[in-house]
Amino acid sequence: MPSYADFYRQSIDQPDAFWAEQAQLIDWHQPPQQICDYSNPPFAKWFVGGTTNLCHNAIDRHLKDRASQPALVAISTETGTERSYSFAELHAEVQRMAAVLQSLGVKQGDRVLIYMPMIAEAAFAMLACVRIGALHSVVFGGFASGSLASRIEDAEPVAIVSADAGSRGGKSVPYKPLLDEAIALSKHKPAAVLMVDRGLVPAAMHAGRDHDWAALRAQHLNATVPCVWVESTHPSYTLYTSGTTGKPKGVQRDTGGYAVALAASMKHIFDAGAGQTDFTAGPPQGESAAPLGGSDPRERRSVGVFFATSDIGWVVGHSYIIYGPLIAGMTTIMYEGLPTRPDAGVWWSIVEKYKVTHMFSAPTAVRVLKKHDASWLKKYDVSTLKALWLAGEPLDEPTAQWISDALQVPIIDNYWQTETGWPILTLANGVEQQTTRFGSPGKAMYGYNVKLIDESNGEELTGPNQKGVVAIEGPLPPGCMQTVWRDDERFVNTYWKSIPGRLIYSTFDWGIRDADGYYFILGRTDDVINVAGHRLGTREIEESISSHPNIAEVAVVGVADSLKGQVAMAFAVPRDASGLTDDAARLKLEGEVMKHVDSQLGAVARPSRVYFVTVLPKTRSGKLLRRALQAVAERRDPGDLTTMDDPAALQQVKDLVGP
Ligand code: AMP
Repeated sequence: MPSYADFYRQSIDQPDAFWAEQAQLIDWHQPPQQICDYSNPPFAKWFVGGTTNLCHNAIDRHLKDRASQPALVAISTETGTERSYSFAELHAEVQRMAAVLQSLGVKQGDRVLIYMPMIAEAAFAMLACVRIGALHSVVFGGFASGSLASRIEDAEPVAIVSADAGSRGGKSVPYKPLLDEAIALSKHKPAAVLMVDRGLVPAAMHAGRDHDWAALRAQHLNATVPCVWVESTHPSYTLYTSGTTGKPKGVQRDTGGYAVALAASMKHIFDAGAGQTDFTAGPPQGESAAPLGGSDPRERRSVGVFFATSDIGWVVGHSYIIYGPLIAGMTTIMYEGLPTRPDAGVWWSIVEKYKVTHMFSAPTAVRVLKKHDASWLKKYDVSTLKALWLAGEPLDEPTAQWISDALQVPIIDNYWQTETGWPILTLANGVEQQTTRFGSPGKAMYGYNVKLIDESNGEELTGPNQKGVVAIEGPLPPGCMQTVWRDDERFVNTYWKSIPGRLIYSTFDWGIRDADGYYFILGRTDDVINVAGHRLGTREIEESISSHPNIAEVAVVGVADSLKGQVAMAFAVPRDASGLTDDAARLKLEGEVMKHVDSQLGAVARPSRVYFVTVLPKTRSGKLLRRALQAVAERRDPGDLTTMDDPAALQQVKDLVGP
């Protein structure tokens, strides 16, 4: 077993040899002729000449060894349903869906937009698309018609797959009216809409355009639809992510590079492998237990079940609800519902029931749970869990500590972006066990030539603890975005031209690296604030404030100030607001928090005000709407708020800061 340092070095110094070896983790119809073609930077082509298929790697190749093993378990605490599909059953359902899509005119290279809640049919649709070489473009079910329309226009789908409704907190959220409105708004009109009727709300069907999944499925029950072998560089999907301009960018991903990257990440990062998971008895018996050997029952059971609490509308959903676990031959759990309903123990009850070995969530979700009693985590047997991975936003130390104490398993932060498709920074515990450092997502992952760059002159910062822009030298490793859908120029100009004098990929995040190679992310390059000439990361102030015992969550933004240029302003959610009934009590806590920051970071970082709110303005994926918050704090127009989860959140801020 090499050390991680050696493993990483090889990936950077001999990328062809390194990735040629990783490429063996998947099935190829034709093996690649060239590992990486980087003759036209920054466009990288991985595994050139190879032909493969994502669906084959996720399903068909497992049929020989694990046809009856659960592949997909769809759990909804919204509708009170649980349904498990073995690899064989998933294979059949995906072929039915593929046949239905073909019957609606979908061909190789066409786009299919998927606007669906977290139901098994959404997974069938994604897998069916890649099976026939069509590109899926999943749009988060919580987006409304405006966002959906702009994505329909950009992707120009031949067909849209949708459902009558999602459900949140026990209430149905109808999708069809939003979809109809989006199609009306969009210049592009799809030829067909395939509707999954969950029986939640009646959905008006447009004759000639709209089709019922159950009816068409019944016509294709015995469908056999072979996988189409596509070039490694054939796009598998586009996924929209918001940019600074308001026009969403379609992140385009390839096929072979993505499959290899995910297979490698399951092995090296998640230390995850396939295995027989016995849902009724304890640890697996016989052969499947043998390779893992050990006398620790946790170790012997540590195969098989991946539970990512994200949504298929986000990149984590693509990589670690659908493709990654299935490519590895694991059981994947798809969950529709809240983490606190029917109670704050629901996720841990799922871990116990399905003997989940790998869990993946987001810091926000943990902070939600943190508001509830930690005893919910003790109620269930979570001893099958190897670790909990968290990603998507900074993981503050108090939150990490809280969940670590409660779960007693390693809490592993991982830092990446929609653009990269898999972690840039984390710990590759499958290569070498590394210690978690709270506050750090970890080290540069193999394949990512991560650099810290001085943004003023483009020079690399090589010493420890120097703050720079986290950048990646090309070629980006397999699995990362190929380009912006139909906009190569935007890809180059947005990501590769922001550092003066060099062609290097910018993450737009600030970071530092300590002497041992652990990185610390200090917030977006665009969130930096400058208080009286001192550059401060809002993240550092947030970290300090959230370590106050009565603060559950906080957002700090830089607000224009005529004297100091900018001052920091904090909006905090108290853990216990019952005592904050009058101004005196609020001022007392505000003073305490300020003192807390003074003592930890110095008076320079002290926020000018700490306002108390019940909820922070966030996107539906849980990302803080910093710019909107900042705009309101500066009494400006907050701009496009279509992604905002709860409009009341910004109103509270408006009321607090005044006209
Ligand atoms: P998205 O593409 O929506 O996943 O957003 C990616 C951005 O989220 C990154 O550029 C970071 O600003 C932030 N982010 C993601 N993961 C982490 C993490 N583990 N720690 C800190 N920031 C993160």
